[in-house]
Amino acid sequence: MSEGRRFFAAQAWVGGGWARDVLLAADADGFWARVLVGCSDADRRHAEVLNGPVLPGLVDAHGHAFQRAMAGLTEWAAPGRDDFWSWRDRMYAAARRIGPEQLETIAGFLYTELLRAGYTQVCEFHYLHNDVDGEPYADPLEMSLALVRAAQRTGIGLTLLPTLYMRSGFGATGLREDQCRFASTPGSVLRIAEAVRRSGSGTRTITAGLALHSLRAVDEGALLEAAAAAHQARMPVHIHIAEQQLEVDDCIQRHGQRPIEWLLGKLIIDRHWNLVHATRSTPRELAGIRDQGASIVICPSTEANLGDGVFDLPGWLGIGGRWSIGSDSHVTRSPIEELRLLEYSQRLALRQRNVAARAAGCESTAGVLFNGALDGGSAAAGQACGGLAVGQRADFCVVDPASPALAGVPAQRLLDALVFSSPETVMVRVCVGGRDVNLHPPSREFAALMRTLW
Ligand code: ZN
Repeated sequence: MSEGRRFFAAQAWVGGGWARDVLLAADADGFWARVLVGCSDADRRHAEVLNGPVLPGLVDAHGHAFQRAMAGLTEWAAPGRDDFWSWRDRMYAAARRIGPEQLETIAGFLYTELLRAGYTQVCEFHYLHNDVDGEPYADPLEMSLALVRAAQRTGIGLTLLPTLYMRSGFGATGLREDQCRFASTPGSVLRIAEAVRRSGSGTRTITAGLALHSLRAVDEGALLEAAAAAHQARMPVHIHIAEQQLEVDDCIQRHGQRPIEWLLGKLIIDRHWNLVHATRSTPRELAGIRDQGASIVICPSTEANLGDGVFDLPGWLGIGGRWSIGSDSHVTRSPIEELRLLEYSQRLALRQRNVAARAAGCESTAGVLFNGALDGGSAAAGQACGGLAVGQRADFCVVDPASPALAGVPAQRLLDALVFSSPETVMVRVCVGGRDVNLHPPSREFAALMRTLW
């Protein structure tokens, strides 16, 4: 095996906890070939010294890049009911202003923000397939390739999830007029996924899976067809599910079953499946998901922003369920902030402290949260993004050692302070696949675009 870069960290997160004097050696393909804890002076010779505590990069398991252009701009009250569904109308209106050039600019800015906060891979749940008037582009990959270019330019890993969206609700036969950009078939999304996978083969950072927007947007036949194709290609499959009560009620009315209950009865949702939100799940449904091997993608900041509800984290951790985090609408871009919100939402609802740690039977709340998000990331991304271990992609982040949140904190409590003593800590150096990435977002270009959008 040919040699890649070698790094030395005085403190790094290895095997689920802090380790001292760690040598990290990447192979020429950008994966870890050697991870040595407690290394000697001779081992670390010729290694680059990393100046700060080193964390693995995390996967942002669910996002819609174009929604970054709306962050902070829907926080004003309008007449009538203000909830997920009225927010969705505002989001649809914004989506209609975004073509491929705009999408590439927004994603380029967003992806650098994600990198500097500690994400090294993003799963893009992508459904803006057609032109703003709903007509298909001459090249069906037009919008997808804008996201691929943004990922390549910034260096973040990308799992593109072309998303199947066929109807406006349970029992509907087509889309609403303001949904016509999303029109797609099992065949069209599969072709996009395969093309992106082909173009990314040979790189360590670009790949694709498949997404089904939701049970309300995909009929049973298309769901089974797309799922079978993804299974055959061993691609990750993502689906929004049980996010809102109305969706649960409509599913019961149509099928006589709750969404997760219905899905579990239709096919095996194995380890390639990632169920996004699942805020409205029963203990029995959670046990079914765990038994079939699927993961849950929790999006704490967006679920709070949209008033979705609170996921049953202790119920899921208590049965050893696998999960990852997503920044979804990108109202925050920091995994640290997502983990903090995840725990705080539980404390507020249950009036207890250290909920995640107690449910998992562990000591450190931040440790349980970070390890959980890390463990579920690879399944969501369909990539080896599992941290500082041999065979995983050589991703890492160096925490700013001068961060005020860390002043005087004992070494073993550093992650707790990072998660629970804000303000945000920005990473001072990030590597993806053994390569350094630029941590300065193209702010001027993004601001100029925002002025044309709003
Ligand atoms: Zn979403």
